[in-house]
Amino acid sequence: MTHHADFSTLIDYWFGELDEAAQTALDEHYLGCGACSARLAEVEALASGVRRAFTGGLVRGVVTPAFVEKVRSSGVRVREYRVERNGSVNCTVAPEDQMLVSRLQAPLEGVRRVDVVVSSSVTQGPLRFDDVPFDPAAGEVVMAPSIAYVKSMPAYVTVMRVLAVEAGAERVLGEYTFSHSPHASSG
Ligand SMILES: [Zn+2]
Repeated sequence: MTHHADFSTLIDYWFGELDEAAQTALDEHYLGCGACSARLAEVEALASGVRRAFTGGLVRGVVTPAFVEKVRSSGVRVREYRVERNGSVNCTVAPEDQMLVSRLQAPLEGVRRVDVVVSSSVTQGPLRFDDVPFDPAAGEVVMAPSIAYVKSMPAYVTVMRVLAVEAGAERVLGEYTFSHSPHASSG
């Protein structure tokens, strides 16, 4: 790769979602490019509190509202779904979308640790994210599904549960249902 990486590619790189050839090309490009190295450092700094999933597939991590705003202001096309507590939403993703976020609204006042459990009709067991970043004042937890994975999927249903963990016990703060359909023009 001799050209600079765009911000959305940097995000994918950081999440470890580029294929091996693209990853190698970008590794090599960084060695000689101060501009891209600086931008990757910017992504890494922003993402310091972000939980990444290393299992691949459906969900790639839990991010912060600040991360989403930075990504958006860098020109990345972000599609987001804000879901009320115990709510559900019909969702899709367009071919031109570059990042997908789910903003789960939950009462987080006084909560010290939040875990998120993701179950879906297309993955084997539930996927659990321990001690995720959240802003009690914002009252939301922001999940970032893998957009490449979602674009490749037929219709499916995902349920996310936000849990408060206290002294070894846990209680459900909210449950959020996403009914995904492929983009209308992609069929
Ligand atoms: Zn560059």
